[in-house]
Amino acid sequence: MCGIAGVYSERFSAGEKVYYALFSLQHRGQESAGIAFYSDTLRYKKQMGLVSEVFTKEDLIPAKYSIGHVRYSTTGLSKLENAQPFVVKSKVGSIAVAHNGNLVNYAELRKELENEGSVFTSDSDSEIIAQLISKILLKSTDYIELFQELNSKLVGSHSCVLLINDKLLAYRDPLGFRPLCIGELEDGYVVCSESCAIDALEGKFIKDVEPGEAVIIENGDVEFVRFAKSQRRAVCIFEYIYFARPDSVIDGISVYRARTEMGKILAEESPVDADFVSAVPDSGITAAIGYATSSGLPYMECLIKNRYIGRTFIMPKQELRELLVRFKVNVIKENVIGRRIVLVDDSIVRATTSRRIVDMIRKAGAKEIHLRIGSPPILAPCYFGIDMKTREELVASKHSVEEIREIVGAESLRYLSLEGLITALKRLGGKEFCTACLTGRYPVAVPGELTEEG
Ligand code: SF4
Repeated sequence: MCGIAGVYSERFSAGEKVYYALFSLQHRGQESAGIAFYSDTLRYKKQMGLVSEVFTKEDLIPAKYSIGHVRYSTTGLSKLENAQPFVVKSKVGSIAVAHNGNLVNYAELRKELENEGSVFTSDSDSEIIAQLISKILLKSTDYIELFQELNSKLVGSHSCVLLINDKLLAYRDPLGFRPLCIGELEDGYVVCSESCAIDALEGKFIKDVEPGEAVIIENGDVEFVRFAKSQRRAVCIFEYIYFARPDSVIDGISVYRARTEMGKILAEESPVDADFVSAVPDSGITAAIGYATSSGLPYMECLIKNRYIGRTFIMPKQELRELLVRFKVNVIKENVIGRRIVLVDDSIVRATTSRRIVDMIRKAGAKEIHLRIGSPPILAPCYFGIDMKTREELVASKHSVEEIREIVGAESLRYLSLEGLITALKRLGGKEFCTACLTGRYPVAVPGELTEEG
């Protein structure tokens, strides 16, 4: 995951607008933040930390063009050198890249580029894209050719916003793993990971950037170009389950409605006799409301979140994650004493959070805790931008549902079925998704893994 945004602003407030866009995309990455500005020359600032910690008012210099990035690491360590945007200065001018995704063929591309003389300043796969762009533009400045050549070299997920001198460009890989959309502003345009950032800028949603499509914004003119045609899409299904904000709409599907449908189907598939439905906040709330609606049980809060601590799962280190869970939520004891609770969460990755939460509710006096999960078990690693790299860290890859129930200590545990999940999204017009971490079958060739074809 990562959040990206790019703005063109007639009134030279692109940097400020990118800042606010990143603010609303903060849930997509909390390790580092960066903004590049173009106004005669390219300048940038990036640092470790949240958007609000990294930038002061003085940093947001007047600019017509700006791009920004909030990072959560997948390839490359959590350190300043890997913060984005990546900036390359070459004979074609200055190039800044903000990338959301992960390249499967990172190592071989890097070797290839190093053999050709490229020098890298980081171990992030996103720098590969910046270096490649600079090389390709030396041969031709035709942007369709640029995107076609990039696409022929990069394997994996890559939604990007780019500043190439005084042009703002954005594109989405042909499988469309990561979301990207464009909105109109009072004095320009914004391209960003999620529509919630367009709303934050009081913009008007224009469209989702289609898989294999690029946007070129220059002097107030917007051009959409198709650089690749894909046989299918592989939009990350976890955007709908967990990553995206519920007030975003991705590829025409409201994330909120998707989660409600998932909760409804979960209730149909796995009913239970209980006193009320509750949620692990925040990401389990919408599915829990769906579950309550469908089951006829009342919805009630039993956990209150400390809103000043980031999302546990996207914190990079296990020790940090463990520590934060304890401070993250607290139980409303009055609501749980002697009660039978259906507790809904969006997913289980390592089961450490679920175990601690069930334990806290139990100690507060709950009679029964029935855990219901709004996604199928996560069985396999993600190679496309989500920090689930090895089967070792995925509890469902080593344990049965009954074993996981024992680990977390709930009276019962049920997951939404894969069919149920797909049905929920199809009801809302969804078409094709990446489900690789749920099936172990990948939409592109990944060394050592099965493809969807077998
Ligand atoms: S493997 Fe899972 S998390 Fe990764 S892109 Fe596919 S659906 Fe999303």
